[in-house]
Amino acid sequence: MTSRPKLAIFTRLMKMTNSHNMVWLRKITGLSVILAIVLLLSGANSNKNVIKQVNQPVISETVAGQVADITDLRQTAQSSITEPQVEDTQSTIQNLETYYEKRFSSIGVNLLPGTEHREDSSPTPESMRVCNDIIYSAMAALPAEHTEKLRDLTLFYTEDGRRGLGGNGEIIVRCDNVDNYELAAVFVHEMGHITDGSYLKGTKNGEFSGFYDFEVPVTKDDASSLFYKISWKSETEKRSNSKELDFVSQYAATDPFEDFAETYTFYRLHGAEFRKLAKSNYLLDRKYRFMKKYVFANAEFGLTDTAQVSVGQRNYDSTVIPFDLEEFIG
Ligand SMILES: [Zn+2]
Repeated sequence: MTSRPKLAIFTRLMKMTNSHNMVWLRKITGLSVILAIVLLLSGANSNKNVIKQVNQPVISETVAGQVADITDLRQTAQSSITEPQVEDTQSTIQNLETYYEKRFSSIGVNLLPGTEHREDSSPTPESMRVCNDIIYSAMAALPAEHTEKLRDLTLFYTEDGRRGLGGNGEIIVRCDNVDNYELAAVFVHEMGHITDGSYLKGTKNGEFSGFYDFEVPVTKDDASSLFYKISWKSETEKRSNSKELDFVSQYAATDPFEDFAETYTFYRLHGAEFRKLAKSNYLLDRKYRFMKKYVFANAEFGLTDTAQVSVGQRNYDSTVIPFDLEEFIG
């Protein structure tokens, strides 16, 4: 590396400082002024080795247009605390993504990155661990005949947006800004849709039941139609004598498919409460017995009667009613 004319470098640095008006360049310029004074004081015939030692790290890097590197060098002591952590967090997230992809893949589920649903999905290692572990455990706590119908799972990490979507073998769940029990309950609700649409199925040539699942006619040999008929005339119209208390939640009264998913959730997570409500409502008793017979192979849940439920009113949404998450996921 050769040393360069001192004044030319000083002038160039001054121009750069004026044109860019950046703090770090001013600092560099300030250093160059000091260097220039040192050099002038040391004389034209001063030891070039000293000049090289002093100048090289600053001048050569600056002229090469790599001024940022100098700033980095100066800040090494500070940045060494934070920068590796940033790299570690990113690589930890990538490692966790790979780990959970393999884990879900081993049970036949494609785990897709949250950015597939929301571009701004932004997990932390902790939020990824919590969400993936709860969803994986919730799957294990549901009948395998239901969960084997799930093909694609997307967990996304944003503060807002729909908490869950489910159907046609696919579930999308928001992991951030929900309680842990609520996250599990939203997943169970979406599994209710999967179970309704893919586990209980009729034949193509079966007789029309009177219900359409979007454009697709539901046939009478699809057991779901027996459930829908308890409270509904069609996918948009309730039976004329239908009452709010005939549903496990207000959201269940939206349409027959939400009725199914909410009732599925209530049956699996709030067994004791459901049995208490069923004692005072004939249609809820029918819905309970339907879930027991056609969906859960006679298994019943919430056997410890801790039911704290008001028989005379319903929550808006089954997924926001607290329950013992540890008991559910074991
Ligand atoms: Zn739903």
